[in-house]
Amino acid sequence: MSAEVVDSNPYSRLMALKRMGIVDNYQRIRDLTVIIVGVGGVGSVSAEMLTRCGIGKLILFDYDKVELANMNRLFFTPDQAGMTKTEAATMTLRKINPDVEFEHYCYDITTSKNFEHFMNRISKGAKGDKGRVDLVLSCVDNFAARIAVNQACNELDQVWMESGVSEDAVNGHIQLLEPGRTACFQCVPPLIVASDIDEKTLKREGVCAASLPTTMGMVAGLLVQNTLKYLLKFGQPSYYLGYNAMTDFFPTATIRPNVDCANGHCRALQKKYADWKPYKWVSPQAAKATGPVVHEDNDWGICLDDDDEDDSATAADAASKSNEIAPKLPDPTPPAATGLKFAYEAPSTDTTGADLVEETDMSLDDLQAQLAALAS
Ligand SMILES: [Zn+2]
Repeated sequence: MSAEVVDSNPYSRLMALKRMGIVDNYQRIRDLTVIIVGVGGVGSVSAEMLTRCGIGKLILFDYDKVELANMNRLFFTPDQAGMTKTEAATMTLRKINPDVEFEHYCYDITTSKNFEHFMNRISKGAKGDKGRVDLVLSCVDNFAARIAVNQACNELDQVWMESGVSEDAVNGHIQLLEPGRTACFQCVPPLIVASDIDEKTLKREGVCAASLPTTMGMVAGLLVQNTLKYLLKFGQPSYYLGYNAMTDFFPTATIRPNVDCANGHCRALQKKYADWKPYKWVSPQAAKATGPVVHEDNDWGICLDDDDEDDSATAADAASKSNEIAPKLPDPTPPAATGLKFAYEAPSTDTTGADLVEETDMSLDDLQAQLAALAS
């Protein structure tokens, strides 16, 4: 991967990230392999972005065909109608960047035979036969496939990212799942999964989900941005990032695993990673701010007055303070991310029982008399 700044170099703008100090080692992307499950409105666009970024190898899974009803989204073209999505996508992506290696499989990963093969490609599919792939991206539109990806990744302790767009096309999310460290798909299942309802029974005749190329393109952009940040180690990857198009609201959160998760592999990995802490990125500027300020050519001997500085402040504190733009929250601060609210309030942890007793003007004798009447 050349960094030469000439019009004929497809990677010059990407390698500029290294020169500008954003990514230490951008060319590492040529060694990386990513699996994309689901090559629809989000998956196809994600595959195109990674292809243009020069990813080493992509492995695509989908069992659907391209339809004219997909043309409101990005990537596929009307002349590809009737082709399998994996075949049509690979044909286009090879033209965009012939440096990328491709594998593609047109099957449903939820059947037991295909699931075994899917697991094999996760654990052995890396570019140059180097073993397991670097990341799995789930871009599917149904819960059964998400559960299959979740199961495979929990069994193999494989990091993956989940993405989704709501049926009304105005909400989306991405999520980074590190088995045993962050919540898996079954740790906090949607009600339909927790209730073990077959989602096919919910489909209504003649009614289809809405979709917008804007929301799907944005979710794909957020997903691949998170992928690049995670794989190339720059900035803060999001553990959960939501998008509400109606209010342009982007909630973020770190969701820890559920000790009572229905998935046994998840529970076992929670013990293995009991000491794990979420990654906190500190910008180089914030890291420098906590150390002594030394100018390389400080001919004038200028130094900063640090009378008001708290010596115990860490680099992370400095980073969080410098990024503090949220309005001050009421005291005590709610434990949910700004803008989110709980469906119900947890019971009080106060064990004195003081808050359970109602104020009353009755005397103790009156109360005892009432109690005796109840007992009789
Ligand atoms: Zn779990």
